[in-house]
Amino acid sequence: MPSDTTARKVAFVDLRAQFETIKTEVHAEINAVLERGDFILGNSVAEFEREMAVFCEAGRGVGVDSGTSALELALMALDIGAGDEVITVANTFIATTLAISYVGAVPVLVEMDPDTFQIDVTRIEAAITERTKAIMPVHLYGHPADMDPILEIAARRGLRVIEDASQAHGARYKGRRVGALGDVGVFSLYPAKNLGAYGDAGVIVTNDDAIADKILLLRNYGSTVKYHHEIKGFNRRLDTLQAAVLRVKLRHLDTWNAARRGHAEAYGDLLAGVGGVVARPQTAAYAEPVFHLYVIRIEQRDELQEYLAARGISTVIHYPIPIHLQPAYADLGYAAGAFPTTEAYCERILSLPMYAELGSDDIEYVCAAVSEFARNSETSTIA
Ligand SMILES: *Cc1c(COP(=O)(O)O)cnc(C)c1O
Repeated sequence: MPSDTTARKVAFVDLRAQFETIKTEVHAEINAVLERGDFILGNSVAEFEREMAVFCEAGRGVGVDSGTSALELALMALDIGAGDEVITVANTFIATTLAISYVGAVPVLVEMDPDTFQIDVTRIEAAITERTKAIMPVHLYGHPADMDPILEIAARRGLRVIEDASQAHGARYKGRRVGALGDVGVFSLYPAKNLGAYGDAGVIVTNDDAIADKILLLRNYGSTVKYHHEIKGFNRRLDTLQAAVLRVKLRHLDTWNAARRGHAEAYGDLLAGVGGVVARPQTAAYAEPVFHLYVIRIEQRDELQEYLAARGISTVIHYPIPIHLQPAYADLGYAAGAFPTTEAYCERILSLPMYAELGSDDIEYVCAAVSEFARNSETSTIA
């Protein structure tokens, strides 16, 4: 490899680069918490919840300790439990289905749409049984699922809709923010998400006061009045210092998401026509995505990943094993071949570096390396 490229590094995500741009604001907000000393459910939590609800065009926001908790508490707030079924997608992060399992319900998986990588809405009805209680679409990679057909099916069949918006903070569906399009929506605020804390955090948004009030109880020992406990709740509160960080970052989120969209466009332009590379999932006409991830497809995925790593470029596979083939979910009884599109894509997908502060020179460097790989190898065009 040419010596002038050996020292170059392109990180997959660079949280330090982002911190540099907001350092002063973060220090001020954290210091304000330290001065007030309101460490548990303090002022910053209430302010962040209000600001996140406004951002999502939702009535209410409730902060919790992780995205996984947020999903679990949302299911509990809808009284979904033992013996119930919840429909979701086979290609997602395992936390989506783990939350369903935690409440004693069974995840029922559906194939993805090959163009958008989102739940194939034409296959949802066939998965409904008399035990189905809810549909849980995941706005994967920052691209919204096709919500109108999902909401129509749910209304007609008497089901609830829980959005797993953990990769789609700020994305829009037909002009509206994701999160409160269904009954309740959930965002992970894990550090590397489009909106991320400096530790674990999560938030729930809804237009339904009864759901929000129930989650307030569930996250805080079943109590909103100290030492009065209405239900057997948990300690799943959003940390006040994390809320202070999140308030700062929320102010920048639209700008950061716009930068991500610009990067996606640059990747798309530079990779257009590169043999054997499908530059990314298509953006549906209904969607304004936020590119949590930029995912390409190529037949020789593992070889490309190694090739890029040798040039200092970090990539990740989201996700290498679909839910139904994970050992943890052997009990669901799905066989290999149950979801052919999902399984075929798992072998070919590769997420390229993506974060707001990524430089255009970095994108050019990555795309040059991908093109070079494609030229040098016998790439075959994939379906
Ligand atoms: C990150 C993520 C979660 C889990 O969130 P945590 O905050 O890590 O618990 C759930 N679902 C999806 C789709 C995610 O990407």
